[in-house]
Amino acid sequence: MATIDGLPPLREVIAHHGLSARKSLGQNFLLDLNLTAKIARMAGDLSGSDVLEVGPGPGGLTRGLLAEGARRVLAVEKDDRCLPALAEIAAAYPGRLEVLNADALAIDPLAHLTPPIRIVANLPYNVGTELLVRWLTPPAWPPVWSSLTLMFQKEVAERIVAKPGSKAYGRLALLAQWRTDARIVLTLPPEAFTPPPKIHSAVVHLTALPEPRYPADAATLSRIVAAAFNQRRKMLRASLKGVAPAIEDLLLAAGIQPTARAEEISLESFCALARLVKAG
Ligand code: SAM
Repeated sequence: MATIDGLPPLREVIAHHGLSARKSLGQNFLLDLNLTAKIARMAGDLSGSDVLEVGPGPGGLTRGLLAEGARRVLAVEKDDRCLPALAEIAAAYPGRLEVLNADALAIDPLAHLTPPIRIVANLPYNVGTELLVRWLTPPAWPPVWSSLTLMFQKEVAERIVAKPGSKAYGRLALLAQWRTDARIVLTLPPEAFTPPPKIHSAVVHLTALPEPRYPADAATLSRIVAAAFNQRRKMLRASLKGVAPAIEDLLLAAGIQPTARAEEISLESFCALARLVKAG
C-alpha cells in the first residue's frame, strides 16, 4: 500500500531490516503514520525549526516530523540495527535528516542544532524522565530549546502536570511547571504500539518560559522541595527542619502553615519560601 511520503509502510520496513523489538531498549514502536504525523503537529510549527528526535527506531515519528515540514531533524538512536531504515528516510528528504548512532544520555546533541529548536521523542520511559530533568536544570538551563514534546507512561505524564492537592503532585510537577507550560496533549492505549506495552501512554508538550514562573534561587528551591517531598506525609515544620534554623518563622512569613504538608503547597508558595531561606 502506498504511503503519504512514498516510503514503504513501517511494517515492511521492520520486516525488511529485521527490527524485532528489543525489550532492553524499551522498543515499542508506533507504526501508524497518521498518528506519528499527528504527534509531529503537536510539537508546533516545525517549518522554521531544527528538531532533535531521540530514539527514532524504524523512523515512524521521524517521517511525521519531516512530512510536517521540519527544517532539519537530528535523530539520536542507540540501536545500530535501525540505521539502514533511517538512511532510507534521509535519502527521501535530502539534506534534512542527520542520524547519530549514540546513547542520548552520553552526548549533548543540542550543540549540533540551530535555534529555534524543538525536541520530540518517544523514548523508553526511564530515559525520557532522566532527559526531561536534565533539559530543565543547569547547565542545560536557560534552554536553547523552545519546546519539548515527549511520550511518557501516563502516570509519569500526570506527575508532570499535577496540581497541589493530588497524589501525583511532587518534585517533577514543581520542576516542570516552574520553568515551562506543561500539558498532556494526547493519551494512547497500549494497542497504539507494536508490541503493546503493559501501560497507557501520554504525550506531554512543554513550552519553555522566558523566565522561571516565580523568582527563586534554583538550588535553594530544589533543596526545599526535595526535603518536603522526601517525607511527604510529615508536617513541613518537621520535614524542613534541616533547611533553616528558624523554619517555622520562615514558613509563616511565606504564608505557609507550619503544620501543612508538602502536597498542599503551591509552586508560588515554595518559591516565596525559597527566597526567604536564601535571604537568611
Ligand atoms: N520513535 C520510535 C517510534 O515512535 O516508533 C521508537 C520508539 S521506542 C519506544 C524507543 C526508541 O529509543 C528505540 O528505537 C530505542 O532503540 C531507542 N533508545 C532507547 N534508549 C536510548 C538511548 N539511551 N539513546 C538513544 N536512543 C535510545
